[in-house]
Amino acid sequence: MPVAMMPEETTVECNLAIIGCGLSGMAAALFAAGKGFSTVQTGVSGGMIFASGLLDLMCVHPVEKGSRWMDPWAAIDALSDDIPEHPYARLKKETIKKALEKVVYFLRDNGLPYLKCGENNSEVMTPLGTSKHTYYVPQTMWEGVRAFKEKRPCLVVGFRELNDFSAAQIAGALGERWPGLRWQDVSLQGSATTAGLVSGDIMARDMELAGNLEKVVTEIRPHIRDAETVGIPAILGMERSHEIVERLSQELGARVFEIPTMPLSVPGLRLNEAFTRGLSDKGVKLFFPNRIISWEEADDGNFLLGIGQGAPAKWIRAEGVILATGRFWARGLRADRDRIREALFDLPVHQPEERAEWHHEDFLDLRGHPVNRAGLEVDDLFRPLDRTGGPASEKLFAAGSILAHQDWMRMKCGSGLAVSSAYAAVTAFSKIRG
Ligand SMILES: Cc1cc2nc3c(=O)[nH]c(=O)nc-3n(C[C@H](O)[C@H](O)[C@H](O)COP(=O)(O)OP(=O)(O)OC[C@H]3O[C@@H](n4cnc5c(N)ncnc54)[C@H](O)[C@@H]3O)c2cc1C
Repeated sequence: MPVAMMPEETTVECNLAIIGCGLSGMAAALFAAGKGFSTVQTGVSGGMIFASGLLDLMCVHPVEKGSRWMDPWAAIDALSDDIPEHPYARLKKETIKKALEKVVYFLRDNGLPYLKCGENNSEVMTPLGTSKHTYYVPQTMWEGVRAFKEKRPCLVVGFRELNDFSAAQIAGALGERWPGLRWQDVSLQGSATTAGLVSGDIMARDMELAGNLEKVVTEIRPHIRDAETVGIPAILGMERSHEIVERLSQELGARVFEIPTMPLSVPGLRLNEAFTRGLSDKGVKLFFPNRIISWEEADDGNFLLGIGQGAPAKWIRAEGVILATGRFWARGLRADRDRIREALFDLPVHQPEERAEWHHEDFLDLRGHPVNRAGLEVDDLFRPLDRTGGPASEKLFAAGSILAHQDWMRMKCGSGLAVSSAYAAVTAFSKIRG
């Protein structure tokens, strides 16, 4: 059915449509609602639910040397000098900072406080027993940053029922740097939690059930001895994690902190839930889990985006669009036999000339692979470029990991880039709209 003939009730009108529910889409929806735009968002879960919950700003540059920076702002300066096409090079540092602060205030207001160490990165232990540097740390993990820095006597606890988390591995790998680090596995058998192996998300929700926390305390208390701090996998509740960490600290007489886990990650799920809850309170209309499957630009310049499977069942009519559709896994980019394509608008994708150049020979090549930096080229207003090199459309913007010339995974700039490019895109829409 032509769009002009669609019944009214199947068409939703808005100022700004955000395509994507990853961190860049969530941040864009927050900024758009904050500016008073009627906002519609669509997508299925983004990478956020697999992410550690740590908000990286910038850490590794150049990636081939693996050089880690404690000062992320100095790292952004160096990166912008060396890779002027990187999206960060288009952004003022005040803009990046303001965007991140707005997200962190919003998360705090929605029950997820974050902390940072002045303007520096903090060193956080990982579930592999390595460490990584990041900018904003969930408050439930903060005591771990301090304990690690000061090498305070610490007990790392594992649960026998929890897959993919080994306290022994962490203590073994970090032991040389941290002599006061011990480990102990405990069991939650007999508690209200499910018998056998349990995934982190189920365990986190179980922690909020009556009686389970007492069981945790009873199991851990005999092993505390000289430990001043206790590291526990990040499964301490879904909605009340901060309260649970505080309560455990009191009951155990040692400061408790969470350690990031492998995906599926509870802190990532908390982030996702906090955004979904908070954005709904701000009036963002979310179509979840729904994908945009078609689009057209109407004569008046508005976008008509079709939602559905096979044929559109609903349409969004929007003045502007922010494309925050991620990379291959999220299906924002698609790899054909010979070319990488942008999946929805068929926008040109910056990429190597030949498929043979997508990857270096060595899978673990320290430089990463050229395919990791493929993506959309944008102008200074974060509008994707068309084949002539001009903006593809006046009010079409792009944000997040779909952008070219960045390798967020190796550079450790995922969240900072997602949030700040979303902010730049919404600000640009606001300016153009006047
Ligand atoms: C395992 C893992 C660990 C991570 N760890 C960290 C970390 O420690 N620190 C950090 O800062 N960042 C981390 N990240 C990165 C971070 O969570 C974000 O994934 C990243 O910043 C990119 O976000 P994005 O919103 O651009 O894309 P994505 O998260 O990929 O989201 C893309 C969204 O677009 C939607 N979409 C695609 N096509 C359509 C369509 N046609 N219609 C509607 N919707 C569509 C998808 O459904 C999805 O919701 C991690 C990510 C992963 C996967």
